[in-house]
Amino acid sequence: MRPITDHDIRTSFINCSKGEAKRLSTPKDLADLPWDDLDFLGWRDPGAPERAYLVADHGGALTGVALRVTSGAARAFTSRSMCSLCLTTHTNGGVALMTARRTGEAGRQGNTVGQYVCADLACSLYTRGRKKAPGDGALMDESLTVEDKIARVRVNLEAFLDKVTA
Ligand SMILES: [Zn+2]
Repeated sequence: MRPITDHDIRTSFINCSKGEAKRLSTPKDLADLPWDDLDFLGWRDPGAPERAYLVADHGGALTGVALRVTSGAARAFTSRSMCSLCLTTHTNGGVALMTARRTGEAGRQGNTVGQYVCADLACSLYTRGRKKAPGDGALMDESLTVEDKIARVRVNLEAFLDKVTA
């Protein structure tokens, strides 16, 4: 994705109040991020572990989504869990259930969309082999190229953002 600024991020949010978008903590190292290798910008709020944020291009517009993190939910199901965006397999706690309030009337009625995602939201880096999840690859024999995996992350992300904004 193209490099974006703190201001770009704060004005991109579609499912939280302007006040929250103004107050939330953005990544401190924005200028140094490997933008060419990012399909989206995702981060956890260091001061509030239950909050996470994701910013991506969606239909030509920079779109930010505020997420609530439920950690531990995936662990009760199995000790291994898979990210639904990049399909990286993680062991204990490496995947978290992240829930986004939907936009518009659905959101006002309390509707949310939940997705199991890499707990550090580093899907782009796992996909490109720049970051390794402990134990990943042991179960899956993946013959996809990196390009195919990147395309898959983008398709899955689009589908998620479509659900949030539908
Ligand atoms: Zn992932």
